[in-house]
Amino acid sequence: MTKEEMINRINKLKKEKNAVILAHNYQTGDIQDIADFTGDSLELAKKVVDVKADIIVFCGVQFMAEMAHMLNPEKKVLLPRKDAGCPMADTITGEDVRKLREQYPDYTFIAYVNTNADVKEQIDICCTSANALVIAKNVDNDKIVFMPDRNLGNYIKENVPEKDIVLWDGECNVHNRITLEEVKKAKELHPNAVLIAHPECKPEVVKFADEVLSTGGMVKFVKETKAEEILVGTEEGMIHRLQKEAPNKKFYSVSRNFVCANMKKTHLEDILESLEEEKYEITLPEEARKKGKKTLDEMLKYL
Ligand code: SF4
Repeated sequence: MTKEEMINRINKLKKEKNAVILAHNYQTGDIQDIADFTGDSLELAKKVVDVKADIIVFCGVQFMAEMAHMLNPEKKVLLPRKDAGCPMADTITGEDVRKLREQYPDYTFIAYVNTNADVKEQIDICCTSANALVIAKNVDNDKIVFMPDRNLGNYIKENVPEKDIVLWDGECNVHNRITLEEVKKAKELHPNAVLIAHPECKPEVVKFADEVLSTGGMVKFVKETKAEEILVGTEEGMIHRLQKEAPNKKFYSVSRNFVCANMKKTHLEDILESLEEEKYEITLPEEARKKGKKTLDEMLKYL
């Protein structure tokens, strides 16, 4: 089947089955182009709540599809690749959080949305990189345990110095592998470019950046900035999105190594199979779903 035939087939199935395709900004260009909506975790969470279609094909990783199921359980949520996980989310379990609760009984537990359902069951509120600072500043407690990303956690600590913030020692191995040296080299190659970096990057990279932004924040920034060249400090899939949003600007990745293997597992073939066979459906026990939803609903209050 040619690519065009495959896309036609996907679109036909979407109509027949009343399905919608949501994609994260780190998906390949092909997937972003056929998706009904592409966004960061916060934008996708907001979108999921209002989906009217019967089926949501979620092109991203496991925790994102779980989030969609938590927020809109009436819909059938499909993850085209069952093996698309997030190594950062896997650095912490619900059992780890239970133990931390014993150690820090009077702390508010904030978890990055990049966590599995068993962790969301145990925490107070979720956040994404787009609203982490607002939530940390505004939760009604000066003592916070933040998990699982140490780099985003350090960024929060720097910006919310008035609070006592305990961090879990996890990381995104994609963002964390990018060194300051690499970034400086990229800056030398493109001296006129503005450097935008995701807060999951190492602290020294975050400090060196001109702007620290979530991927949703990056979209807004490139549309508004007068800069004509932009060095992008996040997963390379983002460049496809930014180029579409600001076609007259030039975008460069800070590193050729900036690829999330899990985000790149999904191909058009997988989406077609997913729609044909309605696989892989993501569900959770009702108790776990409800607890997870509560933490996401809390997060969605901070918009
Ligand atoms: S980019 Fe990092 S945080 Fe995002 S899915 Fe990949 S490993 Fe997980």
